[in-house]
Amino acid sequence: MIYELPTLPYEVNDLAPVISKETIEYHYGKHEKTYIDNLNKLIEGTPFAQKTIEEIIKEAEGPLFNNASQAWNHIFYFFTFSPEGRRAPQGELAEAIDRQWGNFENFQKEFEQAGVSLFGSGWVWLSKDREGKLVISKENNAGSPLTKGLIPLLTFDVWEHAYYIDYRNRRAEHLHKLWEIVDWSVVESRYL
Ligand code: MN
Repeated sequence: MIYELPTLPYEVNDLAPVISKETIEYHYGKHEKTYIDNLNKLIEGTPFAQKTIEEIIKEAEGPLFNNASQAWNHIFYFFTFSPEGRRAPQGELAEAIDRQWGNFENFQKEFEQAGVSLFGSGWVWLSKDREGKLVISKENNAGSPLTKGLIPLLTFDVWEHAYYIDYRNRRAEHLHKLWEIVDWSVVESRYL
């Protein structure tokens, strides 16, 4: 199949000042488009052209893994945000977070710390394991919890291209501000 850049469910200036119009235009409009274009070129005429992107991520290595996984990660990341979403978890997911970390604030602190302490480029993730337990993990570069049998729920991008226009080198501030635009109704839909 041929992949296309999905249209975001909000306008390019809707997440400002947490994520500026300029960052969305570069990060989604240029970086993400390049990953998708590369993915299309790399699968053309190969058995991977018949597979789902999740299968490609689980089976491929090297440039194909990198481009497929980055394409998937960015769509997952940008579709978590909303200018008018629900800003805290509710129901079963909220209860699971409280069981695991005591309360929502402790979870947020640990998630931010995981992102701050990741060396180089990558992603910080909240996932659900096979037993339904929540787990925070760090992945370098294009890494994905899908390759470890986890079900991804939430991710923050800690590549410099995600924050350098708006926050310069202040990665911790970028991570802390992202909570203001997370729509927890989206995260919950991935959990249930
Ligand atoms: Mn990115």
